[in-house]
Amino acid sequence: MALVSENIETLFPYVPGKPIEETERELGISGVAKLASNENALGPSPKAVAAVQEGVRSAHLYPDGSCYYLKNRLAEHLDVSPEELVVGNGSNEVIVLLVRTFLQRAGSGAVDHEAIISDGSFIVYRLALQAHGVKTVRVPLGADRRFDLDAMAAAITPATRMIFIANPNNPTGTYVGRAAMEAFLKKVPEEVIVVLDEAYTEYVEKEDYPDGLQLRKLHPRVVVLRTFSKIHGLAALRVGYGVMSAELASYLNRVRDPFNVGALGQLAARAALDDPEHASKSRALNSAELARLEAALPGLGVTVTPSVCNFVLCDFGREGKGVYEALLHEGIIVRPMAGYGFTESARITVGLPGENERLLAALKKVL
Ligand SMILES: *Cc1c(COP(=O)(O)O)cnc(C)c1O
Repeated sequence: MALVSENIETLFPYVPGKPIEETERELGISGVAKLASNENALGPSPKAVAAVQEGVRSAHLYPDGSCYYLKNRLAEHLDVSPEELVVGNGSNEVIVLLVRTFLQRAGSGAVDHEAIISDGSFIVYRLALQAHGVKTVRVPLGADRRFDLDAMAAAITPATRMIFIANPNNPTGTYVGRAAMEAFLKKVPEEVIVVLDEAYTEYVEKEDYPDGLQLRKLHPRVVVLRTFSKIHGLAALRVGYGVMSAELASYLNRVRDPFNVGALGQLAARAALDDPEHASKSRALNSAELARLEAALPGLGVTVTPSVCNFVLCDFGREGKGVYEALLHEGIIVRPMAGYGFTESARITVGLPGENERLLAALKKVL
Protein backbone atom coordinates (compact mmCIF):
# COMPACT_ATOMS: atom_id res chain seq x y z
CA MET A 1 0.00 0.00 0.00
CA ALA A 2 1.28 3.49 -0.82
CA LEU A 3 2.69 5.34 2.18
CA VAL A 4 1.40 8.70 0.94
CA SER A 5 -1.26 9.84 -1.49
CA GLU A 6 -0.48 10.81 -5.08
CA ASN A 7 -0.53 14.55 -4.35
CA ILE A 8 2.17 14.14 -1.69
CA GLU A 9 4.20 11.69 -3.76
CA THR A 10 4.44 14.22 -6.62
CA LEU A 11 4.99 17.26 -4.40
CA PHE A 12 8.30 19.10 -4.70
CA PRO A 13 9.69 20.95 -1.69
CA TYR A 14 9.85 24.74 -1.92
CA VAL A 15 13.30 25.84 -3.06
CA PRO A 16 14.32 28.93 -1.10
CA GLY A 17 16.97 31.46 -2.08
CA LYS A 18 20.44 30.06 -1.45
CA PRO A 19 21.70 31.20 1.96
CA ILE A 20 24.82 33.40 2.17
CA GLU A 21 26.68 31.08 4.60
CA GLU A 22 26.04 28.03 2.41
CA THR A 23 27.33 29.82 -0.69
CA GLU A 24 30.46 31.03 1.09
CA ARG A 25 31.12 27.58 2.53
CA GLU A 26 30.64 25.75 -0.76
CA LEU A 27 32.62 28.16 -2.92
CA GLY A 28 35.24 29.08 -0.32
CA ILE A 29 34.57 32.78 -0.78
CA SER A 30 33.42 35.60 1.49
CA GLY A 31 31.47 38.84 1.20
CA VAL A 32 28.64 37.25 -0.75
CA ALA A 33 25.66 39.48 -1.57
CA LYS A 34 22.22 37.88 -1.49
CA LEU A 35 19.82 39.37 -4.00
CA ALA A 36 17.61 36.31 -4.05
CA SER A 37 14.73 36.52 -1.59
CA ASN A 38 13.35 40.07 -1.83
CA GLU A 39 14.55 40.92 1.65
CA ASN A 40 14.95 44.55 2.70
CA ALA A 41 18.46 45.70 1.75
CA LEU A 42 18.46 48.07 4.75
CA GLY A 43 17.64 45.31 7.22
CA PRO A 44 15.15 45.68 10.07
CA SER A 45 14.20 48.90 11.81
CA PRO A 46 16.55 49.67 14.71
CA LYS A 47 13.40 49.93 16.85
CA ALA A 48 12.51 46.34 15.97
CA VAL A 49 16.02 45.20 16.83
CA ALA A 50 15.80 46.91 20.23
CA ALA A 51 12.40 45.35 20.90
CA VAL A 52 13.77 41.88 20.19
CA GLN A 53 16.82 42.44 22.38
CA GLU A 54 14.61 43.44 25.27
CA GLY A 55 12.00 40.76 24.59
CA VAL A 56 14.44 37.85 24.52
CA ARG A 57 14.79 38.17 28.30
CA SER A 58 11.31 36.67 28.51
CA ALA A 59 12.10 33.80 26.17
CA HIS A 60 11.00 31.27 28.78
CA LEU A 61 7.38 32.44 28.51
CA TYR A 62 4.98 31.21 25.84
CA PRO A 63 3.96 33.94 23.41
CA ASP A 64 0.54 35.54 23.46
CA GLY A 65 -1.34 33.05 21.30
CA SER A 66 -3.96 35.63 20.37
CA CYS A 67 -1.42 38.31 19.30
CA TYR A 68 -3.58 40.75 21.26
CA TYR A 69 -1.31 43.79 21.19
CA LEU A 70 -0.11 43.26 17.65
CA LYS A 71 -3.65 42.82 16.37
CA ASN A 72 -4.82 45.94 18.18
CA ARG A 73 -1.90 47.92 16.81
CA LEU A 74 -2.56 46.61 13.30
CA ALA A 75 -6.29 47.26 13.59
CA GLU A 76 -5.56 50.91 14.38
CA HIS A 77 -2.97 51.12 11.60
CA LEU A 78 -5.26 49.58 8.96
CA ASP A 79 -8.60 50.90 10.22
CA VAL A 80 -10.12 47.45 10.60
CA SER A 81 -11.28 45.61 13.69
CA PRO A 82 -9.02 43.13 15.54
CA GLU A 83 -11.60 40.41 14.83
CA GLU A 84 -10.88 40.83 11.13
CA LEU A 85 -7.22 39.92 11.56
CA VAL A 86 -5.42 36.59 11.58
CA VAL A 87 -1.69 36.72 12.28
CA GLY A 88 0.48 33.93 10.97
CA ASN A 89 3.98 32.53 11.00
CA GLY A 90 4.61 34.63 7.91
CA SER A 91 1.76 35.22 5.48
CA ASN A 92 2.80 31.83 4.15
CA GLU A 93 1.06 30.23 7.11
CA VAL A 94 -2.09 32.23 6.46
CA ILE A 95 -2.12 30.90 2.88
CA VAL A 96 -1.85 27.33 4.18
CA LEU A 97 -4.53 27.97 6.80
CA LEU A 98 -6.94 29.35 4.20
CA VAL A 99 -6.46 26.25 2.07
CA ARG A 100 -6.79 23.81 4.96
CA THR A 101 -9.79 25.56 6.47
CA PHE A 102 -11.94 26.27 3.45
CA LEU A 103 -11.04 23.77 0.72
CA GLN A 104 -11.90 20.12 0.57
CA ARG A 105 -9.43 17.73 -0.93
CA ALA A 106 -10.51 16.14 -4.20
CA GLY A 107 -12.69 13.09 -3.67
CA SER A 108 -13.82 14.00 -0.16
CA GLY A 109 -17.12 15.73 -0.88
CA ALA A 110 -20.06 15.76 -3.26
CA VAL A 111 -18.18 18.17 -5.53
CA ASP A 112 -14.43 18.62 -5.78
CA HIS A 113 -13.63 22.13 -4.59
CA GLU A 114 -11.54 24.03 -7.11
CA ALA A 115 -8.97 26.76 -6.62
CA ILE A 116 -7.78 29.06 -9.40
CA ILE A 117 -4.23 30.33 -9.63
CA SER A 118 -2.20 31.93 -12.38
CA ASP A 119 0.95 30.51 -13.88
CA GLY A 120 4.00 32.63 -13.14
CA SER A 121 2.83 33.54 -9.67
CA PHE A 122 3.92 32.79 -6.10
CA ILE A 123 4.65 29.07 -5.98
CA VAL A 124 3.45 28.66 -2.39
CA TYR A 125 -0.20 28.77 -3.55
CA ARG A 126 0.40 25.77 -5.77
CA LEU A 127 2.33 23.87 -3.11
CA ALA A 128 -0.24 24.53 -0.39
CA LEU A 129 -3.08 23.43 -2.66
CA GLN A 130 -1.27 20.31 -3.81
CA ALA A 131 -0.21 19.36 -0.27
CA HIS A 132 -3.86 19.50 0.74
CA GLY A 133 -4.96 17.61 -2.38
CA VAL A 134 -7.16 20.37 -3.79
CA LYS A 135 -8.13 20.42 -7.45
CA THR A 136 -6.23 23.38 -8.89
CA VAL A 137 -6.94 25.23 -12.11
CA ARG A 138 -3.92 27.03 -13.57
CA VAL A 139 -4.49 29.93 -15.93
CA PRO A 140 -1.64 31.07 -18.22
CA LEU A 141 -0.23 34.57 -17.80
CA GLY A 142 -1.55 37.17 -20.22
CA ALA A 143 0.17 39.87 -22.26
CA ASP A 144 3.34 41.42 -20.80
CA ARG A 145 3.41 38.73 -18.13
CA ARG A 146 0.41 40.26 -16.40
CA PHE A 147 -2.43 38.28 -14.91
CA ASP A 148 -5.11 37.43 -17.43
CA LEU A 149 -8.04 38.31 -15.19
CA ASP A 150 -10.58 37.69 -17.95
CA ALA A 151 -9.29 34.14 -18.32
CA MET A 152 -9.23 33.69 -14.55
CA ALA A 153 -12.86 34.87 -14.31
CA ALA A 154 -13.79 32.56 -17.19
CA ALA A 155 -12.23 29.64 -15.29
CA ILE A 156 -14.72 30.03 -12.42
CA THR A 157 -17.17 27.12 -12.13
CA PRO A 158 -19.82 26.28 -9.51
CA ALA A 159 -17.07 24.28 -7.75
CA THR A 160 -14.65 27.22 -7.45
CA ARG A 161 -14.03 28.19 -3.82
CA MET A 162 -10.79 30.19 -3.86
CA ILE A 163 -8.78 32.39 -6.23
CA PHE A 164 -5.24 33.60 -5.54
CA ILE A 165 -4.01 36.92 -6.90
CA ALA A 166 -0.70 38.41 -5.86
CA ASN A 167 -0.87 42.17 -6.33
CA PRO A 168 1.81 43.06 -7.13
CA ASN A 169 2.91 39.69 -8.37
CA ASN A 170 6.04 37.78 -7.46
CA PRO A 171 8.11 36.92 -9.54
CA THR A 172 6.96 39.17 -12.42
CA GLY A 173 6.85 42.43 -10.43
CA THR A 174 3.71 43.44 -12.34
CA TYR A 175 0.47 44.72 -10.83
CA VAL A 176 -3.24 44.79 -11.55
CA GLY A 177 -4.73 48.27 -11.77
CA ARG A 178 -7.81 49.43 -9.88
CA ALA A 179 -10.28 49.36 -12.79
CA ALA A 180 -9.26 45.85 -13.87
CA MET A 181 -9.40 44.53 -10.32
CA GLU A 182 -12.80 46.06 -9.63
CA ALA A 183 -14.20 44.66 -12.88
CA PHE A 184 -12.82 41.25 -11.97
CA LEU A 185 -14.25 41.23 -8.45
CA LYS A 186 -17.70 42.02 -9.86
CA LYS A 187 -17.55 38.77 -11.81
CA VAL A 188 -16.61 36.61 -8.82
CA PRO A 189 -19.56 34.90 -7.10
CA GLU A 190 -20.07 35.84 -3.44
CA GLU A 191 -19.16 32.43 -2.07
CA VAL A 192 -15.69 32.41 -3.63
CA ILE A 193 -12.79 33.54 -1.43
CA VAL A 194 -10.49 35.92 -3.30
CA VAL A 195 -7.03 36.01 -1.75
CA LEU A 196 -5.25 39.26 -2.60
CA ASP A 197 -1.65 38.76 -1.58
CA GLU A 198 -0.12 42.20 -1.04
CA ALA A 199 3.32 41.23 0.25
CA TYR A 200 4.94 44.11 -1.69
CA THR A 201 2.16 46.68 -1.38
CA GLU A 202 4.32 49.20 0.49
CA TYR A 203 6.75 49.41 -2.43
CA VAL A 204 4.18 50.30 -5.07
CA GLU A 205 4.12 53.92 -6.21
CA LYS A 206 1.40 53.91 -8.86
CA GLU A 207 -1.73 56.06 -8.91
CA ASP A 208 -3.94 53.27 -10.22
CA TYR A 209 -2.73 50.58 -7.81
CA PRO A 210 -5.73 49.52 -5.73
CA ASP A 211 -5.65 49.13 -1.94
CA GLY A 212 -6.94 45.65 -1.16
CA LEU A 213 -8.50 46.90 2.07
CA GLN A 214 -10.77 49.17 0.00
CA LEU A 215 -11.52 46.36 -2.44
CA ARG A 216 -12.94 44.36 0.47
CA LYS A 217 -16.01 46.62 0.19
CA LEU A 218 -16.72 45.21 -3.26
CA HIS A 219 -16.71 41.54 -2.31
CA PRO A 220 -17.49 39.99 1.10
CA ARG A 221 -14.86 37.30 0.81
CA VAL A 222 -11.81 39.25 -0.22
CA VAL A 223 -8.89 38.30 2.02
CA VAL A 224 -5.91 40.67 2.01
CA LEU A 225 -2.54 39.21 2.95
CA ARG A 226 0.35 41.34 4.12
CA THR A 227 3.71 40.58 5.68
CA PHE A 228 6.48 41.93 7.87
CA SER A 229 9.02 39.98 5.81
CA LYS A 230 9.48 42.44 2.99
CA ILE A 231 9.60 46.22 3.50
CA HIS A 232 9.69 45.81 7.28
CA GLY A 233 12.78 43.62 7.03
CA LEU A 234 11.67 40.97 9.51
CA ALA A 235 11.69 37.84 7.33
CA ALA A 236 13.60 35.80 9.92
CA LEU A 237 10.97 36.40 12.58
CA ARG A 238 8.05 35.08 10.49
CA VAL A 239 5.14 37.44 10.92
CA GLY A 240 2.41 38.02 8.35
CA TYR A 241 -1.33 38.51 8.53
CA GLY A 242 -4.60 38.31 6.72
CA VAL A 243 -7.44 40.83 6.80
CA MET A 244 -10.80 39.19 6.23
CA SER A 245 -14.36 39.13 7.51
CA ALA A 246 -14.64 38.29 11.20
CA GLU A 247 -16.51 35.15 10.13
CA LEU A 248 -13.66 33.84 7.99
CA ALA A 249 -11.12 34.82 10.66
CA SER A 250 -13.00 32.89 13.33
CA TYR A 251 -12.61 29.68 11.33
CA LEU A 252 -8.88 30.19 10.75
CA ASN A 253 -8.50 30.74 14.47
CA ARG A 254 -9.97 27.30 15.12
CA VAL A 255 -7.53 25.63 12.76
CA ARG A 256 -4.28 27.45 13.50
CA ASP A 257 -1.75 26.22 16.06
CA PRO A 258 -2.13 27.75 19.52
CA PHE A 259 1.23 29.59 19.51
CA ASN A 260 1.78 30.08 15.79
CA VAL A 261 3.54 33.44 16.06
CA GLY A 262 6.61 33.82 18.26
CA ALA A 263 6.82 36.48 20.94
CA LEU A 264 9.88 38.17 19.41
CA GLY A 265 8.13 38.43 16.08
CA GLN A 266 5.10 40.04 17.70
CA LEU A 267 7.29 42.59 19.49
CA ALA A 268 9.36 43.34 16.41
CA ALA A 269 6.27 43.77 14.23
CA ARG A 270 4.76 46.25 16.67
CA ALA A 271 8.02 48.19 16.79
CA ALA A 272 8.22 48.19 12.99
CA LEU A 273 4.77 49.79 12.80
CA ASP A 274 6.08 52.49 15.11
CA ASP A 275 8.90 53.26 12.68
CA PRO A 276 7.24 54.40 9.45
CA GLU A 277 10.41 56.36 8.64
CA HIS A 278 12.28 53.11 8.17
CA ALA A 279 9.70 51.92 5.68
CA SER A 280 9.78 55.27 3.84
CA LYS A 281 13.55 55.16 3.66
CA SER A 282 13.40 51.61 2.34
CA ARG A 283 10.83 52.56 -0.30
CA ALA A 284 12.84 55.59 -1.44
CA LEU A 285 16.05 53.60 -1.71
CA ASN A 286 14.23 50.91 -3.65
CA SER A 287 12.67 53.26 -6.16
CA ALA A 288 16.00 54.92 -6.90
CA GLU A 289 17.91 51.65 -7.19
CA LEU A 290 15.18 49.81 -9.11
CA ALA A 291 15.16 52.65 -11.66
CA ARG A 292 18.93 52.41 -11.94
CA LEU A 293 18.85 48.64 -12.51
CA GLU A 294 16.01 48.84 -15.01
CA ALA A 295 17.95 51.50 -16.90
CA ALA A 296 21.29 49.66 -16.87
CA LEU A 297 20.26 46.04 -17.46
CA PRO A 298 19.08 46.36 -21.09
CA GLY A 299 22.54 47.67 -21.97
CA LEU A 300 23.95 44.32 -20.81
CA GLY A 301 21.60 42.38 -23.06
CA VAL A 302 19.10 41.67 -20.28
CA THR A 303 15.39 42.08 -20.91
CA VAL A 304 13.51 43.22 -17.81
CA THR A 305 9.83 42.94 -16.98
CA PRO A 306 8.94 46.40 -15.61
CA SER A 307 8.54 46.04 -11.84
CA VAL A 308 6.78 47.93 -9.05
CA CYS A 309 8.45 45.79 -6.37
CA ASN A 310 11.87 45.39 -4.79
CA PHE A 311 12.96 42.86 -7.38
CA VAL A 312 13.06 42.53 -11.12
CA LEU A 313 12.51 39.53 -13.38
CA CYS A 314 15.43 39.39 -15.82
CA ASP A 315 15.62 37.44 -19.08
CA PHE A 316 19.02 36.51 -20.43
CA GLY A 317 18.12 34.84 -23.73
CA ARG A 318 19.93 31.75 -22.50
CA GLU A 319 19.46 29.24 -19.71
CA GLY A 320 18.90 31.18 -16.48
CA LYS A 321 20.48 28.49 -14.34
CA GLY A 322 23.85 28.96 -16.05
CA VAL A 323 23.77 32.70 -15.42
CA TYR A 324 22.76 32.05 -11.81
CA GLU A 325 25.71 29.71 -11.29
CA ALA A 326 28.19 32.04 -12.93
CA LEU A 327 26.93 34.88 -10.68
CA LEU A 328 27.40 32.67 -7.61
CA HIS A 329 31.09 32.44 -8.49
CA GLU A 330 31.13 36.24 -8.60
CA GLY A 331 29.76 36.27 -5.06
CA ILE A 332 26.19 37.21 -5.94
CA ILE A 333 23.14 35.07 -5.24
CA VAL A 334 20.11 35.62 -7.46
CA ARG A 335 17.10 33.36 -7.91
CA PRO A 336 16.80 31.08 -10.94
CA MET A 337 13.22 30.93 -12.15
CA ALA A 338 12.84 27.64 -14.04
CA GLY A 339 10.60 26.37 -11.23
CA TYR A 340 8.20 29.21 -12.06
CA GLY A 341 8.25 28.39 -15.77
CA PHE A 342 10.77 31.08 -16.76
CA THR A 343 13.70 28.96 -17.91
CA GLU A 344 15.78 31.83 -19.29
CA SER A 345 15.28 34.11 -16.32
CA ALA A 346 16.39 34.98 -12.85
CA ARG A 347 14.68 37.18 -10.32
CA ILE A 348 17.03 39.73 -8.85
CA THR A 349 16.28 41.59 -5.63
CA VAL A 350 17.16 45.28 -5.50
CA GLY A 351 20.08 45.61 -3.09
CA LEU A 352 22.11 48.41 -1.59
CA PRO A 353 23.77 50.74 -4.12
CA GLY A 354 27.12 48.95 -3.74
CA GLU A 355 25.52 45.53 -4.18
CA ASN A 356 23.72 46.66 -7.30
CA GLU A 357 27.01 48.02 -8.69
CA ARG A 358 28.61 44.65 -8.05
CA LEU A 359 25.70 42.87 -9.69
CA LEU A 360 25.93 45.00 -12.84
CA ALA A 361 29.71 44.49 -13.04
CA ALA A 362 29.34 40.74 -12.51
CA LEU A 363 26.60 40.46 -15.13
CA LYS A 364 28.75 42.36 -17.60
CA LYS A 365 31.52 39.84 -17.05
CA VAL A 366 29.28 36.76 -17.06
CA LEU A 367 27.18 37.66 -20.11
C1 LIG B 1 7.49 36.98 0.25
C2 LIG B 1 6.09 36.73 -0.10
C3 LIG B 1 5.15 36.42 0.87
C4 LIG B 1 5.47 36.54 2.32
O1 LIG B 1 5.96 35.46 2.89
P1 LIG B 1 6.11 35.41 4.48
O2 LIG B 1 5.65 34.05 4.78
O3 LIG B 1 5.24 36.45 5.09
O4 LIG B 1 7.55 35.63 4.75
C5 LIG B 1 3.84 36.21 0.50
N1 LIG B 1 3.47 36.32 -0.78
C6 LIG B 1 4.33 36.65 -1.74
C7 LIG B 1 3.85 36.81 -3.12
C8 LIG B 1 5.67 36.84 -1.43
O5 LIG B 1 6.53 37.13 -2.39
